[in-house]
Amino acid sequence: MLNDLLQKAAAKPHNLDFAELVELLQTEDTETLFAAAYELKLGYIGKKVNLRGLIELGNYCAKDCYYCGIRKGNDKVERYQLNYDDVIRMAKWTYDQHYGSLVLQSGELESPANTEYIAKILRGIREFAGDDYGITLCLGEQTEEVYKIWREAGAHRYLLRIETTNPELYRRLHPADHSFERRCECIKILKKLDYQTGTGVMSGLPGQTVEDLAHDLQFFQKYDIDMLGMGPYIPHADTPLGKNIAFTPEYAKNQLAIGLKMIAVARLYLHDINIAATTALQALDETGREQGIKAGANILMPNVTDTEFRINYQLYQNKPCMDENSAKCRNCLNWRVLSIGEEIDWDHKGDSRHYWAKH
Ligand code: SAM
Ligand code: SF4
Repeated sequence: MLNDLLQKAAAKPHNLDFAELVELLQTEDTETLFAAAYELKLGYIGKKVNLRGLIELGNYCAKDCYYCGIRKGNDKVERYQLNYDDVIRMAKWTYDQHYGSLVLQSGELESPANTEYIAKILRGIREFAGDDYGITLCLGEQTEEVYKIWREAGAHRYLLRIETTNPELYRRLHPADHSFERRCECIKILKKLDYQTGTGVMSGLPGQTVEDLAHDLQFFQKYDIDMLGMGPYIPHADTPLGKNIAFTPEYAKNQLAIGLKMIAVARLYLHDINIAATTALQALDETGREQGIKAGANILMPNVTDTEFRINYQLYQNKPCMDENSAKCRNCLNWRVLSIGEEIDWDHKGDSRHYWAKH
């Protein structure tokens, strides 16, 4: 029965209806599920993994999402913003280390000064890296004009998670002035501006059902997204959502399981998109990211931010690699990827096949 469903899923993209998505998400035979998703990953991408060096630009944020450790209401966080020279130095290191691609991420800031600062960084990176280098932005909701300025300054990918596609759950996770509709609108604008567009959700949120997750997968299809950056929700003790959740080994195990299932079913449903095995998986299990690849993911996002800043960019508890410098992370990651029989695709930007299939 499960095998029939997996064969059906593998036959062509989007070949599962709502009930079938739910069934796959509920299966207890995860070994068979992950193996089928990995097989499909091998067919589209081969035994290789692409890297995006993650630069955490700063933790100032105008928003107050109830789950996030750097929300503006958390006054225990020491705020920082990297200066231009430091960002360029980290980006150059990433380029010189053959990563092929990087992500610039920060709290959400909307201001002319921030728009110009990011544009200047983008131009600075393009100056030494040229066009054949991947640059993803993950800087939250902005106006069409701002997205356009950044696209023209050199960004070609954007990651904006919808977080959950259940509007009611979204409202419970955010203050009243955070708009689900605006987030959807932003994703549409990013697509219109021809960014390789990524979104994603947190899985295992309090109050989230398996049906919500199946709807999330249908949303990714409906919005025709190119990349997925999904990860399990992980509590942070200094947040309204996380403060009463006991982060036990049992809890971590369940969060990891649902995170891996989402990756696998997304691969089986959407086929040719890029899917990240996010750091949140590693926060739950030492080998979480490797397990993500074996469940169908093909992207890793090693942190390349200087170690001294990492402590202030804790979205959740247990953030891994806090005391490791970028060079150590690089070696560790290479070894981890080789240990599962895969190879890092050094120096390649690893574009979304789904995006190029439409161009
Ligand atoms: N501020 C931008 C935004 O929200 O789109 C980009 C940076 S934000 C820190 C990146 C992602 O972190 C969010 O989209 C959210 O899914 C994730 N995140 C925040 N808190 C989390 C938590 N407690 N557990 C897992 N992921 C979390
Ligand atoms: Fe800010 Fe993003 Fe965290 Fe929300 S998830 S508080 S927008 S950094």
